[in-house]
Amino acid sequence: MAERTGEGSPRMRAYAGYKKIYRYGSPVLRQKTEPVTVFDDELRAFLESMAETMYVSNGIGLAAPQVGVLRRIMVIDMSFGEEVDTILAMVNPEILGSEGECTLEEGCISIPGVFEEVVRPERIRVRYHDLNGETVETDADGLLARVMQHEIDHLEGVLFVDRIGAAKRALLAKTLREIAEESGEEL
Ligand SMILES: [Zn+2]
Repeated sequence: MAERTGEGSPRMRAYAGYKKIYRYGSPVLRQKTEPVTVFDDELRAFLESMAETMYVSNGIGLAAPQVGVLRRIMVIDMSFGEEVDTILAMVNPEILGSEGECTLEEGCISIPGVFEEVVRPERIRVRYHDLNGETVETDADGLLARVMQHEIDHLEGVLFVDRIGAAKRALLAKTLREIAEESGEEL
């Protein structure tokens, strides 16, 4: 998920592991992902490169399909990488339950410049594997719950613009078409 950055100071650090971001219109964003079964150095290196790509893109969450990998992997860091040890690597996440409802504005690294309010559950319970393959169960609310739901949607081929209602989406149709054309992908 992307946040409005206001000051517009993209973090152009020289990240070696930076990966290409697939944008709206790319077929890979619409496909389902496979669970991860092997927790090895390759997975850790991939997660590291995902985190770097997220930071460079001013994101607070990134899912593997956004870098063209159809695996159930996502990273979240609500501090934009400014604080140490705040990165959350989630492998094979699933939502066990949810309650409440809230409206929050969302954006997406794969849909640059588009920010829309989306209604989703306010609190969720999730289960996932950490980097070492250990099972973790946790509750989340507020913005963290929001980012988790946005990223888990990516693992199912769902984008936040699918959840904004037909009228709003119709207003966005031209912008979305332009993003798809710019990224050289057919809709
Ligand atoms: Zn997204």
